[in-house]
This record gives sequence, structure tokens and C-alpha cells, in this order.
Amino acid sequence: MKKSKLAIIFDFDNTLVKSSINFPAMKISMARHVKKHGIDFGKDEEVPRNYTAGNIIDEVKKYDKKNNTNLTEELWGMVEKFERLGMESITIDQDIYPMLEFLKEKGISTSILTNNSKKPTIEVLERYNITNYFDIVIAREDIEKMKPDKEGLITIIDKLSLNLDDVLFIGDSWVDGVAATNAKIRFVLIHKNALDPDKYNIKIWKHVKTIKELTELLRNC
Ligand SMILES: [Mg+2]
Repeated sequence: MKKSKLAIIFDFDNTLVKSSINFPAMKISMARHVKKHGIDFGKDEEVPRNYTAGNIIDEVKKYDKKNNTNLTEELWGMVEKFERLGMESITIDQDIYPMLEFLKEKGISTSILTNNSKKPTIEVLERYNITNYFDIVIAREDIEKMKPDKEGLITIIDKLSLNLDDVLFIGDSWVDGVAATNAKIRFVLIHKNALDPDKYNIKIWKHVKTIKELTELLRNC
């Protein structure tokens, strides 16, 4: 079969699957945990808005280096707990199956880039029998810098020898948009609401609300 030139990279949480990781509670717990060491991320209710988990970890890493502590590891333990809880109650949109089947039929390269850790991600893919649809799954331990950094996208693009013009990154969050914009690839936002591109300095190529709409878009690419 002739290989299509199009290549798709998916975010995982709330793009391919509906996870219920409580990100706000996770970030607040992380911030509280390090507060007693004098690392202050501000008021509880403002933490989720102002920081990604990656931001918090980066700050705490600096503290660890200076003080010879290992708070970073403690924070990762907390992150994993929240992820596990969220993954237990994950759901999947049934429309994902015809979409993945279409991509496979067309020979379109399909990958995943997630800020989650690898093991629970693969477990979910296996649970839903979709592991084989993906060429590469890049999780946070595979790279140095998580999204919004572009490193994960560039890693996939390099490994699969893709042309930037052929790649679409599909994600639900501003961190996905920043990563795609910095990697110079097209970003497709999948979310019920719009996202203000100027607020995050990102380019949104297309906005779709559902997997069904996304499938339609991909059929016309
Ligand atoms: Mg997501």
C-alpha cells in the first residue's frame, strides 16, 4: 500500500481517551507538599491556573540541586498516584475505532506523545486493544522535557523521519498548542470549547469538538 504523506501525533489524556485525572487537585497537593520547605507557588486556588505539573517539578528540581534534597522524587510519587486513580476510571469514545482503522487503512503514521508515565499509558492502550495502531508512544520518561516543550514532538518526527509540513499534532490543551507551535507543525485542537491562541501565543490550525469531527477532518486532509 502506498504510504500517505500525512502523519498524526496524538496527545493522550482527553484527546484519545477521557481520563479523569484530577489535575487541579494534583497540582495543589504538589505545591502544598513543598511549601514547608519554603517553596511557595502561591494560593491553593491559583496554583492550577498558574502552573503545569512540569513547571512545579522544574522549580523543585532547582531547590533539590541547591539543598541536596530529593523532593522531586516525592512529587513524582504523588503524580503517579493521581494518574493511577484517573486511569482506573478512564473511558473511551467508541468513534475512536473507525478513526484509527481509517488511519491504518490509509497508511498514515500515527503516534502518541503524553506527559503521563509509560506503563499506565500502555496498560490503557492494551485494555482497549488499540496498541497496534501506534508507531511510537513517547511518554515523559522517554524525554528530558515534557510538553509544553517541543522535545517530544521533535523526537517522534526524527525517529520516523517525518517532514514538518506533513505532521498534525492533535491535543486538547494549551500545552499541546505551545509544543506544536514551537515544533513548527500544525496543531488541531480537540475540545468542546475554543482556546484563545493569543493568550498562549499559539497557532491553532483547526478546532474540532469531537472524535467524529476529527475523523471527518482527517478524511479530507
Ligand atoms: Mg490532554
